[in-house]
Amino acid sequence: MISAVLPTYNRAPIAFVSGEGSWLTAEDGSRYLDLGAGIAVNALGHANPALVQVLTQQAAKLWHVSNLYRIPEQERLAEKLVEATFADTVFFTNSGTEAAELAIKMVRKYWSEQGQPDRIEILCFEGAFHGRSTGAIAAAGSEKMVKGFGPLMPGFRQLPFGDHAALRAAISDRTAAVMIEPIQGEGGIRVLPDVCLKGLRDACDQVGALLVFDEVQCGMGRTGKLFAHEWAGIEPDIMMVAKGIGGGFPLGAVLATEKAGACMVAGSHGSTYGGNPLGCAVGAKVMEIVSDPAFLAEVGRKAALFRQKLEGLVAAHPAVFEEVRGAGLMLGLKCRAPNTDVVKAAYAQHLLTVPAADNVLRLLPALNIPDEDIAEAALRLDRAAGALGADAA
Ligand SMILES: *Cc1c(COP(=O)(O)O)cnc(C)c1O
Repeated sequence: MISAVLPTYNRAPIAFVSGEGSWLTAEDGSRYLDLGAGIAVNALGHANPALVQVLTQQAAKLWHVSNLYRIPEQERLAEKLVEATFADTVFFTNSGTEAAELAIKMVRKYWSEQGQPDRIEILCFEGAFHGRSTGAIAAAGSEKMVKGFGPLMPGFRQLPFGDHAALRAAISDRTAAVMIEPIQGEGGIRVLPDVCLKGLRDACDQVGALLVFDEVQCGMGRTGKLFAHEWAGIEPDIMMVAKGIGGGFPLGAVLATEKAGACMVAGSHGSTYGGNPLGCAVGAKVMEIVSDPAFLAEVGRKAALFRQKLEGLVAAHPAVFEEVRGAGLMLGLKCRAPNTDVVKAAYAQHLLTVPAADNVLRLLPALNIPDEDIAEAALRLDRAAGALGADAA
């Protein structure tokens, strides 16, 4: 018999009842060190006091009014994002998938307004993940996501990730946009080198195509800059944001330049819940904390500390781990043992990690994880790898 919850996930048999910082407490009272952070969502840890305060204060005042009215909390967050980024304008969503949908619609509308409604081809990349809507799965195009859901929305083509020659061969004055995660998350913590990001910007500029970044996972301070593309010194035309921006509250956004966004006018797009007072009050607090240069510098310092420990683990357990990947606190351990076995061995050590494609173990801790928790995490990963190695021997 089918379970009451539609069985679309292989869930671990653990349920948590509370959290604090980088720790979660399960139903049986045992504590787990959390290196998944709800898949890069709980950017400031669980039950962050500053976020609990803004959420409860706003909850006592006003939750929802709809976008039929001005929403001051939404305006405030939009202004913060515009001030801190390339963007001139922002639309708020409740998730990354919804942000992907709007990004795709914006690209099509842009070209339609330019008098080229047939210019719809968006170049995407193998291993990409943009969410689970019909548009987002068509964009990513992987067999696992699209099988059984055809016919797919037309207009997407997937190129090998990081293959500049393939991009140059594919891009033309028929290309509407290039859409890419500067660091693939679900795809296995695959970092696109800065030189490739610069090359993408140049290639788009040469044919007039829009450049769309999906920073749903790699953005909001995760790499030690507010957004990952800042390392390369280039800017997109459109960017999707979600996950970390709400610190655990469902919130997403599409950021755009005036050039890309001006095609969207009253009636072009909408959302009942998007940009509600509750989510935006929390998002504004997250932005205030994460965009502080001192906070971002700390992310960089913690990341270097963690990475050094991970390099030690790879050296100590060559049969289990192959290499360290990633940037900032978006880290991956490419595994030699099956990554799902490593995730299970880590559960046994009461340590939460997240598997990704390409046999990678993802480590996406809260951005404010204390140094002692990083040390504890490395210790537990070492024990997990040791237990796996012992099983293999
Ligand atoms: C998680 C993710 C999405 C989808 O976000 P949802 O909030 O799950 O809809 C899109 N793009 C990337 C890069 C992601 O990591």
